[in-house]
Amino acid sequence: MNKKFIGAHVSASGGVFNAPINATAIGAKAFALFTKNQRQWGAKELDTETIDKFKHELQKSGILPKHILPHDSYLINLGHPDVEQLEKSRAAFIDELERCALLGLDRLNFHPGSHLAKITKKEKENPTIIKPIEDVCLDTIAESINIALDKTQGVKAVIENTAGQGSNLGWRFEHLAHIIDKVEDKSRIGICIDTCHMFTAGYDIRTRETYDKTWAEFEKIVGFKYLMGMHINDSKPPLGSHVDRHHSLGKGEIGLDAFRFIMNDERMDDIPLVLETIDETIWKQEIELLYSFVD
Ligand SMILES: [Zn+2]
Ligand SMILES: [Zn+2]
Repeated sequence: MNKKFIGAHVSASGGVFNAPINATAIGAKAFALFTKNQRQWGAKELDTETIDKFKHELQKSGILPKHILPHDSYLINLGHPDVEQLEKSRAAFIDELERCALLGLDRLNFHPGSHLAKITKKEKENPTIIKPIEDVCLDTIAESINIALDKTQGVKAVIENTAGQGSNLGWRFEHLAHIIDKVEDKSRIGICIDTCHMFTAGYDIRTRETYDKTWAEFEKIVGFKYLMGMHINDSKPPLGSHVDRHHSLGKGEIGLDAFRFIMNDERMDDIPLVLETIDETIWKQEIELLYSFVD
């Protein structure tokens, strides 16, 4: 029996209940959504009618809550160096976790955070300069997660790896391990691996050999027990470029083999595998293509 749950980050415009409807329309068995406008701080509270409608549509879709990976707002930076901005981010993150809980969802995907230090490219590559800056930020992120988990119940905080663009952290597996290590409640922390971000962060997955090597490193440093979702994207920029630009499957620098490996890798069973590829008109075909890879 196939245990892969593929979907896409579908639109929730007009109301969160539209997400399961949109997922069903493309033949998805999983999906991601924003539970509020991702480019604004505030949001209208979820009312009972909306929540009931969401649960009703979800039931109709047959998709299970554990195969849904909500994504938080892009404005949130849990590692912000400015106290006021950090507080604002922490409050917004708690609100996002609460929204997920209201919808009956069990995990929230977010980008770890950025240190925002103005340093040169040369300084960025010098470990004695960059390491202390990164460590402070990673500690702040872990503390933000601890505060949020303490103030909420049930929903897991799922950290997404990044491309390492600008001052974004979480692109090295070591960054992810650092945060997990400092999170008190390990039962409510998880990881989401975005294949595009992984690749542009410098982790190759294009051949059997590189794929196995990269995931062995992931297992050693982070651990598959924390993998609670994936973003399935090809990449426009090349390996190690630290640029975050997704592409449709097979059209970018990663190519189709990596996705064939994933579809036959039981370590990715029973978690949401979500497309964030750039052409939503072909999501249905991309989902079909992925399922056709199963041996
Ligand atoms: Zn993301
Ligand atoms: Zn992603």
